[in-house]
Amino acid sequence: MMKRAVTFALFTIFTFVIIACFSASAYPDTSNVRVPVILYHNIMDPDHNGSYDPLLNISPGLFESHMQAIKNDGYTTIGFAEYYNWLQNGVPLPPKPIIITFDDGYYSNYQYAYPVLKKLNMKATIFIIADRRGRALSENPHFSWNQAREMLDSGVIDIQSHTYSHRVLSTLSDSEIAYEMSASKKLIESNLGRKCNVVAYPQGAMNDTVIAGARKAGYKLGCKVGDSGTNSLADDPYAIKRITVNGNQTGARLLEVIEENMFL
Ligand SMILES: [Zn+2]
Repeated sequence: MMKRAVTFALFTIFTFVIIACFSASAYPDTSNVRVPVILYHNIMDPDHNGSYDPLLNISPGLFESHMQAIKNDGYTTIGFAEYYNWLQNGVPLPPKPIIITFDDGYYSNYQYAYPVLKKLNMKATIFIIADRRGRALSENPHFSWNQAREMLDSGVIDIQSHTYSHRVLSTLSDSEIAYEMSASKKLIESNLGRKCNVVAYPQGAMNDTVIAGARKAGYKLGCKVGDSGTNSLADDPYAIKRITVNGNQTGARLLEVIEENMFL
């Protein structure tokens, strides 16, 4: 009789432990999640000398192999709206979240990146210099507002602000910062018919005054440039770290770089 009671007690404890384990896995602890944010600029083939600046350029073929590597490794591309909901409201992120970004808004993003991302069903965010839409300044043309709308409507690409004219914000007065922030936000919202909530600081140049300007203009998130590390719940929403992708590296090496940065 005693033996049966002990068996019953052990069975009861075992059952509670099993239930507790399953409950825990149904509500995973997301506090240690890290979100890598990677940064590209232009997509083009190397010039006739076979060279380009790999921190600002990547060939179309290599870009596609990067995206394929990220997908095959089980990453889920997310947008900044999901990032914000996680940061502010604790909404869980999908497994292995990653954010893919582009700065400046080059036509090559529309020409090469957009079709690849659409084909692979991956998301990315392009930070545009608002006053350069449809213009061909220097050697690299920028996509138009119509092309921005087409990408946005696909659900694949989000469009956010890289300020109005790409001036280095940390060198500007408060009113100049306010103009760069607000004029780009207004142009994006009026041309694309949706809220612009994220700014990427040109050259990553930011300080407390720049962050105050971003807040005042109504931005909810701000991105830096050229960092190491990834982003956790404890990090400043106005100082999101981004890893600049080296355009000479293979997809396999990119995965290693992301992994190396995961808990820096
Ligand atoms: Zn830029």
